[in-house]
Amino acid sequence: MIRFFNTLSGKIEEFQPIKEGEVRLYTCGPTVYDYAHLGNYRAYVFEDLLKRFLLFYGYKVIHVMNITDVDDKTIRGANEQGLSLNDYTKKYIEAFFEDVRVLRLLPADYYPRATEHIPDMVRMIKGLLEKGYAYVKDGSVYFSLAKFPNYGRLSKINLEDLKAGVRIEADEYEKESVHDFALWKKAKEGEPYWETEIGPGRPGWHIECSAMSTRYLGPTFDIHCGGIDNIFPHHENEIAQSEAFYGQKFVNYWLHCHHLIVDGQKMSKSKGNFYTLRDLLARKYDPIDIRYFLLSTHYRKMLNFTFEGLEQARASRQRILDFVYELEHRSLPAGDDPEAEKLSENSLSRFKNELAEDLNISSALAALFDFIREINSRLAQDSLKQTGAKKAREVVYEMDKVLALLPEKKEENLPPEIMEKIELRQKARKEKNFALADRLREELAQQGIVLEDTKEGVRWKKIK
Ligand code: AMP
Ligand code: ZN
Repeated sequence: MIRFFNTLSGKIEEFQPIKEGEVRLYTCGPTVYDYAHLGNYRAYVFEDLLKRFLLFYGYKVIHVMNITDVDDKTIRGANEQGLSLNDYTKKYIEAFFEDVRVLRLLPADYYPRATEHIPDMVRMIKGLLEKGYAYVKDGSVYFSLAKFPNYGRLSKINLEDLKAGVRIEADEYEKESVHDFALWKKAKEGEPYWETEIGPGRPGWHIECSAMSTRYLGPTFDIHCGGIDNIFPHHENEIAQSEAFYGQKFVNYWLHCHHLIVDGQKMSKSKGNFYTLRDLLARKYDPIDIRYFLLSTHYRKMLNFTFEGLEQARASRQRILDFVYELEHRSLPAGDDPEAEKLSENSLSRFKNELAEDLNISSALAALFDFIREINSRLAQDSLKQTGAKKAREVVYEMDKVLALLPEKKEENLPPEIMEKIELRQKARKEKNFALADRLREELAQQGIVLEDTKEGVRWKKIK
């Protein structure tokens, strides 16, 4: 049995997916107005741990992560640099996919982009207007909080001071400003806009996630994740929009990770106290040590960023690497080793059980390190035999399906634009847009990349 802390109920609950054996997961993705920083990657690494654990547990996972490529921040950035929105965000989208690969985050099944889903958003906003949950004011459309009595259940916000009909235009705001929020912002001088049935304009940030999540996962799905800063107003607004539009529960389990902090403050762009992955790679940190650092503190605890913390992560991961090296390179006596085999099996089930309890990574890692210590002491006493070492190695690799800390088979890296094309083709195939999928396959072939579709996903080969 798996149990998660559900922000909605404020309790640890048994996890039951809607469809047996399958989990539908939505994770709020990057706003591509700059390089993602390590705080963002804390959220993405936590989500990767969750997804890998669900797969390890035997679930099929359908994972959607959006790309916010139109909002207040991307528009401001593009205008400051005198670029079109697309030209401006392209660089950061490519950088994001590069980071995903470097940090070994399992790719999502879909990476929908907001600019490619405007019709889905317009359909929802139109529906909300028709149902009376939304209203037009000076060409913009707002969600009326007074019409949605369940508002505030996720963030447990106090609605006493709410003034009906007072509006807020910005995508991001503090709890002190619980106001009717913008679904659609009317076209403004110097801003990109779309001509639509609800007038010329562009979407508010919150409707983007409601439209893209339900488009791929259905009106009700299993798990929605993000950092705790997303709870209010972003996720609260997503619930209001989606439940008002579809008339049914939006998400069953809400999982939020706590912040990565620096000197007591959330790491964020606006505070300027951030490091990007690139900054740390330039200082010669190994990305997998960074992955270990972000992974190894329970997701609901604050994580303090320090360079000592990164050093400790490096040392801990080295212990795992040294252990595997020993198992692979020591010459050991032949013969059965039932004790070591039993120890291996017990350690693996302890590891699994710890993670099943709200992803208790600290205890799961303790299970791994206890295991390393016990096998090492058998090595020191010369009592470990070949079968014991083989089993021990298998168990560490099994755990590594969740952790992804051991060296991978050396793979040649593809340039990000090729990776993106492969992603796009997978997406086209899933959407049964075979004409586009075939065209992309051909383009890739012309660039020397041959694709092979397997049960585990798409594989690529370089042709000489
Ligand atoms: P953004 O690009 O700002 O929309 O953020 C993308 C994701 O990163 C969201 O899920 C945020 O909650 C998360 N996030 C941003 N800053 C931090 C931080 N310092 N610690 C943990 N998660 C964060
Ligand atoms: Zn979102």
